[in-house]
Amino acid sequence: MPQGRTLGGHRRRLRAEDGEPAIRPSGLVALVGRPNVGKSTLFNRLIGERRAIVSEQPGLTRDRIYGTVEWRGTAFTAIDTAGLDRVAKEGPEGDLPANTQQQARVALDEANVICLVLDARAGMTAADLEVADILRRARQPVVVVANKSEAREDRLLVHEFLALGMGDPVEISALSGAGTGDLLDRIVAALPPPAESVAEPETTNLLRCAIVGRPNVGKSSLLNAVLGQDRSLVSTVAGTTRDPVDTLITTPQGPVLLVDTAGMKRPGDTKDADYYSLLRALRVVERADVAILVVDATSPLRAQDRHIAGRAREAGAATMIAVNKWDLLDSDERQDRSLLRELRSAYDFAPGTPFLFTSATTGRGIARLLPAAFALGEARALRIGTPALNQFLKEAMIRRPPPSGRGGRRLHLYYAVQARSRVPTFALFVNDPELLHFSYARYLENQLRDKFGFAGVPLRLRARKSEPGS
Ligand code: GDP
Ligand code: GDP
Repeated sequence: MPQGRTLGGHRRRLRAEDGEPAIRPSGLVALVGRPNVGKSTLFNRLIGERRAIVSEQPGLTRDRIYGTVEWRGTAFTAIDTAGLDRVAKEGPEGDLPANTQQQARVALDEANVICLVLDARAGMTAADLEVADILRRARQPVVVVANKSEAREDRLLVHEFLALGMGDPVEISALSGAGTGDLLDRIVAALPPPAESVAEPETTNLLRCAIVGRPNVGKSSLLNAVLGQDRSLVSTVAGTTRDPVDTLITTPQGPVLLVDTAGMKRPGDTKDADYYSLLRALRVVERADVAILVVDATSPLRAQDRHIAGRAREAGAATMIAVNKWDLLDSDERQDRSLLRELRSAYDFAPGTPFLFTSATTGRGIARLLPAAFALGEARALRIGTPALNQFLKEAMIRRPPPSGRGGRRLHLYYAVQARSRVPTFALFVNDPELLHFSYARYLENQLRDKFGFAGVPLRLRARKSEPGS
């Protein structure tokens, strides 16, 4: 067994009460390696219980591809590159899965830290060397992970990995969790410091907005249509990271920072474009207050889109969906209410997500796009007074009383308050947090959403144990 801390003992601390990260993730960590080295096992180990919680969200594919990991006061987003590929290539238009080298190349472009996962039992293989060769070009730190290092004899081959000249391998067992604490220490140490984040103008009411979606859905066309001819409204904001260009625009509602507009077109129309756009979207929504997810009206129900929306929600960005290329539907299709129904049901893990039907070609919906984004931003920033909140929640609980739990015990709400947070977060002081079940929390969330206009805004409920009258 490798020495050092294991993840197991820290499990409890890794788990957020409601599956949402308490801290903003500060980087993207990609797990790369040939098939069968244990990437998915490691990924699952790192994201821990969060997986189970998130898969309870109906409509979201169980196949998770990203997850937020919190470790010693830092959070990062782990990406399973092989899983990413499965999602990006889904559907009739999908072609063959990208190979390991392609996955490594994408990680090279998009990740802040790369974990090269190797199998200590098998030692170095030709396929490992090919991946390592690609990763040699990495500007970002690469952590070599010797997985499956359970027994002494497994570790005899680890010296082969040293010969890569990419630093000391971290010996772990993804299966048992041994050594994963050391791995997390290494990853966290390699993450970029917060100071390196993109410089943002000092404006109080600045709305940070990300336009994301699959290639060719019309993101740049929509942006151009929104900007119209008046280029004087636009200025670019160069960042200090590899993420170069944000675009600052002035609108009647206020300033909007469109994050990573350069990345919208990258990398042209190569066969990896789906893959890049997915990874990029998963990343940029972290910096956004509002995500505009653009989908193609002629193929609006893709798993990739749902993963992006799920990610935006988890990262705390309010989300709206622009169903673009509306002009390509004939009038029957446009009248057909079942499209909207299907869309709503595909996104029912994010209740109330607003849909806007747009066409960059005819201009339909363009004028409403940014005002809708502002409305979402405002809803996300809304603060509800404590008396109004308590009054409303009490009434909601009378209308539909909480189900009784184990031993006939019921949830009692003593007091609620909106916590200070960038995402609307409500602390509920209750007799026993365990009695707040997922479905009842969802009921209260939806009630709050309808009453206070939080459509499209991720809400968080945190139950805290309290005593009556305290
Ligand atoms: P991937 O293709 O790189 O994602 O690899 P998987 O995570 O699917 O793992 C491939 C196989 O290796 C599975 O049978 C796992 O159970 C096994 N495996 C993964 N991690 C470990 C480990 O730490 N020790 C051992 N003994 N087996 C492992
Ligand atoms: P991006 O990759 O998401 O930025 O997509 P583009 O903005 O480059 O658009 C891809 C293609 O779709 C281009 O040929 C556009 O002219 C076309 N397109 C974009 N929006 C619309 C639309 O609303 N209707 C139609 N018919 N075509 C559109």
